[in-house]
Amino acid sequence: MRLETLAIHAGGDADAATGALSPPIHLSTTFRHGPAAERAAGYEYQREGDPTNDRLRAAIAALEGAAAALTFASGMAAISALLDSLGPRTRVLFPQDCYTGLRVLAAEFLPERGIEAIAVDTTDPAAVRAACAGGAALVWVETPSNPLLAVSDVAALAAIAHEHGALLACDNTFATPVLQRPLALGADVVMHSTTKYFGGHSDVLGGALAFARADACFARVARRLHATGATLAPFSAWLTLRGCRSLPARMAVHCANARRVAEFLAVQPQVERVHYPGLASHPGHAVAARQMDDAGGMLSIELRGGRDAALGLAGALRLFTNATSLGGCESLVEHRASVEGDRPVSPPGLLRLSVGLEHVEDLIEDLRQGLTGL
Ligand SMILES: *Cc1c(COP(=O)(O)O)cnc(C)c1O
Repeated sequence: MRLETLAIHAGGDADAATGALSPPIHLSTTFRHGPAAERAAGYEYQREGDPTNDRLRAAIAALEGAAAALTFASGMAAISALLDSLGPRTRVLFPQDCYTGLRVLAAEFLPERGIEAIAVDTTDPAAVRAACAGGAALVWVETPSNPLLAVSDVAALAAIAHEHGALLACDNTFATPVLQRPLALGADVVMHSTTKYFGGHSDVLGGALAFARADACFARVARRLHATGATLAPFSAWLTLRGCRSLPARMAVHCANARRVAEFLAVQPQVERVHYPGLASHPGHAVAARQMDDAGGMLSIELRGGRDAALGLAGALRLFTNATSLGGCESLVEHRASVEGDRPVSPPGLLRLSVGLEHVEDLIEDLRQGLTGL
């Protein structure tokens, strides 16, 4: 079955008891079992699993081409569960440009467990090879990356990681399985913040891991999830599953709109650079064209006027709301350096745009009026 069909039907059997097409949400925290704890339908206690989470896991596994998937209370809970399943006193490589939360884990939390986290330029396979030579249990890649939309070659990095006995984990939040399937490119684990495109409506927090094999690594992470309890609530699983049904259709519009917005911004005199892998000028364009079906709905721009111009534009926009997060129906803009705390890593003139599902001419008019005022 093709991806659009899987997105609608995976995990979507009609309810056996009632025939309901929209799946029931079981809020029960506990499930009746036999006197010797015999499970009637495989469930015992909500922290260990419930029917709605199982449907969502089946859908995510189908879309990613995975042997198994796990769902979590947030994207960060998913990342943490995977990293916590690694033994102590090992090394992890992570991308120089990546989600802020991962940077925090690498700087503060992993060292506490004796794990050395080393930032590498994952767009450069030679740099990853050199870093792997010093030993690594896991190579983390995020492509396209947040917020610079850097593109890393998943197939090349998987080969390098495996040569050195390391796992390759890929944060696929920006691309979604609609545009990129890292397991088919050789990655071992795919991670999602389902808060973003999967949920798709800025109203549900969640995370997921999809595993190439239901192996020992999967079992360790599943056990950790059950034991530590970063469980996705059934209603959140239900909302995310509903988002899954329209994910391919939404991604097509996100991509078409973002491409037009990127092309418009690329020729504006106030704009110094547009980071969008769909533009031929993007350094990762060739790799993106090879490993992605389209370039996605996220882009970032650098204003010639630096921080003042970036804040000026962000403040002047009417349709793009100033807010963090991404992947919802509505367009968002964010001055990343302002939300990165005491030690910002983003360029001061950088704005990140999450291009939504509005009519693209309205979005372009909004950007035009905002730029005119600079
Ligand atoms: C949002 C995000 C995360 C973290 O997910 P939460 O659901 O916010 O915990 C991780 N990676 C990327 C690329 C993200 O955009």
